[in-house]
Amino acid sequence: MQVAIDGPASSGKSTISKIAAERFSLAYIDTGAMYRAAAYIKLKYVVEGAAFYTLLQQTEFTFNPKNTPFLICAPQIGEVDISSAIRTLEVTKAVSYVASDAEVRRILTAKQQWAAKGRDVIMDGRDIGTVVLPNADLKFFLIAAAEVRAKRRCDEWIAQGKQVLYEDVLKDILARDTADIHRDAAPLKKAPDAREIDTSLLTIEEVVEIISVCISQLRLG
Ligand code: C5P
Repeated sequence: MQVAIDGPASSGKSTISKIAAERFSLAYIDTGAMYRAAAYIKLKYVVEGAAFYTLLQQTEFTFNPKNTPFLICAPQIGEVDISSAIRTLEVTKAVSYVASDAEVRRILTAKQQWAAKGRDVIMDGRDIGTVVLPNADLKFFLIAAAEVRAKRRCDEWIAQGKQVLYEDVLKDILARDTADIHRDAAPLKKAPDAREIDTSLLTIEEVVEIISVCISQLRLG
């Protein structure tokens, strides 16, 4: 079974996907983490052009059930746990630009399709239902008002002891929405056969419930 969950930044995709993955024994693949990894590699190892694409192509991503730690392994880099490094403000600011590069998308899309091959997976991102897994058994498109998403993200960071300003988080979310929606390569958009869920007024549990009912129905045939 393949489940695709798309939607804008901080719409709850990863939290919901992780819970559903656990509940239904699906592998969870966080494609946003892979684009963040690409941005991290570019910033940290200062590689450009063909050298960057080669390095990205050679990079192995380790997906484990909870996606923690998130490991990358590449010839020049060795094995590194980048779970925290990909969540910094610096990487967050750079990621949409790196993700707009068609060659980066070609490389990562192939890796994502390979990772999903023959497995029961739930995969979240921006282009899963449209490009990566167009034949997914279930597709969801999560949305929420930008202000709600910014508030959720702020609460998350504050709970982790990080200092953040709501205005900065909202600005970043709006900038990433614009970049993700308007890029030429695999822009963020709802697949025609995806079910849209507005999570603005729903709890995590309520969204998980909607998705769980659909997965259970599919399992029962
Ligand atoms: O999901 P997350 O917010 O961690 O994703 C980070 C960024 O990676 C997004 O803002 C988007 O630019 C990019 N992305 C993408 N396609 C995906 C997943 C993420 O372009 N399938």
